Amino acid sequence: MAIRDIIEVPDPLLKQISAPVESFDDELKTLVEDMFDTMYDAPGIGLAAIQIGVPRRVLVIDLQPDDPDAEPVPCDHDGHHHHHQPTKKEPRVFVNPEILDPSEETKSYQEGCLSVPDIFAEVDRPATCRVRYQDLDGKVHEEDMDDLMAVVIQHEMDHLNGIVFIDHLSRLKRNMAMKKLQKLRAA
Ligand SMILES: [Zn+2]
Repeated sequence: MAIRDIIEVPDPLLKQISAPVESFDDELKTLVEDMFDTMYDAPGIGLAAIQIGVPRRVLVIDLQPDDPDAEPVPCDHDGHHHHHQPTKKEPRVFVNPEILDPSEETKSYQEGCLSVPDIFAEVDRPATCRVRYQDLDGKVHEEDMDDLMAVVIQHEMDHLNGIVFIDHLSRLKRNMAMKKLQKLRAA
């Protein structure tokens, strides 16, 4: 169990295409534990292995459904829920995920990313999709995703293909976001 450093843009690793997982071994289980530790510590609601510098096709997600009794915790992965109240943990692991049947209908959502800290922007994505993935034992599953889960899984899938959410923006908006990030870093 360990909290690992999250790499940030413009680290060239974030442009790397992650390789499929072939061995469902203890090393994979340790990687996933570290990813959860790192994600909860950040805090965020999704993390791809490449964000801690490991180019493997592994995602962890926990949308952390609101618990009315919990203290508000800022969540910097999700612009719409800046102060939603996590606690009830629902950890999900997706190994070698693939997106199937993305809907033609799209939805715009204000996204953020632990690798692009403090920057939020509206991104259009298919509103629903089906995901085929393997679990920690290599067993294959398929599941329909909608709402926030569809947004997060597509955002995290992009990381496995070397894409960060600001790559979906116009060049002008992306340059503005990078300038803002540099300013925040300098401050
Ligand atoms: Zn991200």
